[in-house]
Amino acid sequence: KSPPFSLVGAIDQGTSSSRFMLVTSGGRMLSTAQVEFDQIFPMDGACDNIIMSGSCVGWHEHDPFDVWDSVSTCIARTIEELHGMGLDLSSSGGGEDSNNVRIEAVGITNQRETTVCWNDRTGRLYYNAIVWDDARTASVAETIISENSNTSGGKDALRERTGLPIASYFSGTKVRWLIDNVPQLRSDLNSKTERQHVRFGTIDTWLLYMLSGYARSVLEMESNERLAHEGGVYKTDVSNASRWLFMNLKTLDWDEGLVSAICGGSVCWEDGEGVNDGDGATTIPIATALPKIVPSSDGTIGTIRGIPCPNLAKNVLALENVVIGAILGDQQAALFGQSCFLPGEAKCTYGTGLFLMMNTGMEPMSSTRGLLTTVAYQIAGKGAVYALEGSVAFSGSTIGWLRDRLELIKSASETESLALSVHSNEGMYLVPAFSGLFAPHWRPDARGCMVGLTASHTKAHIVRAALESSAYQAREVFDAMVLDSDVHLKEMKVDGGATANKFLMQFQSDILSVPVIRPEFLETTGMGAAFAAGLAVNVWGGLDDISMMWHADKVWKPTMVGAEREKLWNGWNKAVQKSLNWID
Ligand code: ADP
Repeated sequence: KSPPFSLVGAIDQGTSSSRFMLVTSGGRMLSTAQVEFDQIFPMDGACDNIIMSGSCVGWHEHDPFDVWDSVSTCIARTIEELHGMGLDLSSSGGGEDSNNVRIEAVGITNQRETTVCWNDRTGRLYYNAIVWDDARTASVAETIISENSNTSGGKDALRERTGLPIASYFSGTKVRWLIDNVPQLRSDLNSKTERQHVRFGTIDTWLLYMLSGYARSVLEMESNERLAHEGGVYKTDVSNASRWLFMNLKTLDWDEGLVSAICGGSVCWEDGEGVNDGDGATTIPIATALPKIVPSSDGTIGTIRGIPCPNLAKNVLALENVVIGAILGDQQAALFGQSCFLPGEAKCTYGTGLFLMMNTGMEPMSSTRGLLTTVAYQIAGKGAVYALEGSVAFSGSTIGWLRDRLELIKSASETESLALSVHSNEGMYLVPAFSGLFAPHWRPDARGCMVGLTASHTKAHIVRAALESSAYQAREVFDAMVLDSDVHLKEMKVDGGATANKFLMQFQSDILSVPVIRPEFLETTGMGAAFAAGLAVNVWGGLDDISMMWHADKVWKPTMVGAEREKLWNGWNKAVQKSLNWID
């Protein structure tokens, strides 16, 4: 028999869908599956009259079991496909027998900040997952800012320690909302015995817990309620942990002062004893209610129990005993997958949102222009590598809005030809500040606007303006990054669904005035997770081996004349002012 050839798996859990992929040791994708899951908008249409208060718009949730089902379905389908190809997987996870395929490790990459909360004794969820772009916690962020007004700095009061502004985006504000609004959670946190069973986590933590835990016995399950597995590994990696407002960027551990500043209650470390026990105050036991923070690429994170495959024999469990070798937040995984391993290397991802990230090396670099300082990745046994990041809430989702709400288009792929069917935006701009503006503005009260309309504008102009808005927002972040870091960015590596749009890519290059480079494999997020996992178990010897597998596929160079660029850029900035100031 031929020797086993090594594969590495990646779970890519995104905002609208989950993917699983298997990558060969040569960096080629062998097989992949993708499953979408339901988006829950609980306040849809419920608060049209109080939009001005900003407190009732933009609720967005996921059912954590929908997320789990979508992931396990992708894994089962991929493994079934491999069986269908006649590949022998029976030694998955390092068995001794001579077989031809071995899955050496799996990496997890995930939508970040989205926050889950469950009880590990009962297996019950306290609430749906609150999604990263959910705007309900804007008022929570305001409360936290005023509670911390003794520390100067307003929304930047915690920036030095966390690298982040106090904003609805980050997990900590979602934790605070859950504590303030879910009675069962608050009463459990007030009980000495129950408090130690409360688990908060981001999606990576939830998936790791489910993958490494045991299904509860049927007898324990009352009615048809879905219950979390039990006994799972409860960890997160530094890149995800850096998005809570709870982690100190230097120590790379949870910071008691930060947790209590955000949650407004008391915190404790080890024994579940709260300082305020008895007076009804909420206590968060950090050691048990927050996951242990581990490096992003690490062979000791945990082991998968195995996932049933409906179309295979009952005793075949997909990924049984395979090691989880990496966890990376999705943007950090994309940076890794784009092999941006050197300080000054940057990428921009055009997905639901838009995310620019630049590797800044081994020291956190602070931002004065509204960017986030965050952990890029940490390889076990080494120090953390940091990044500057600018995220924009609405990018691909603006196209989704044109399709699903305005019903101007049937599919995202139509937008390219529609945009190209007109010569320019003809003075029209769309600022998609639907849930406020993220970097570099951080203004939750901003709202979307369309300006410069004339009767000659058509649907095509609206579509074009929507696409252009992604490019302008990317430039806002790009300019802030150059000024904050003093690094002259010579090019931009791009990935994500909307890089399929050639109009957008050319326009992006024109507006940035640097080449935009798309790699051969667009699945950089999944690739990054696979690379980090393979690195942890020696499928690849080092970062150089990974860099060798990255190849450019297409480069867009700037062709727009400077005056035109400036005219458009000025128009955009004026439109943004409208979006920031319309309420006044
Ligand atoms: P995520 O990982 O955030 O779910 P993807 O990277 O899969 O997102 O990208 C999907 C997004 O890209 C969608 O919001 C969609 O509207 C947008 N998109 C996909 N194809 C195109 C296209 N041809 N032109 C513009 N936008 C597109």
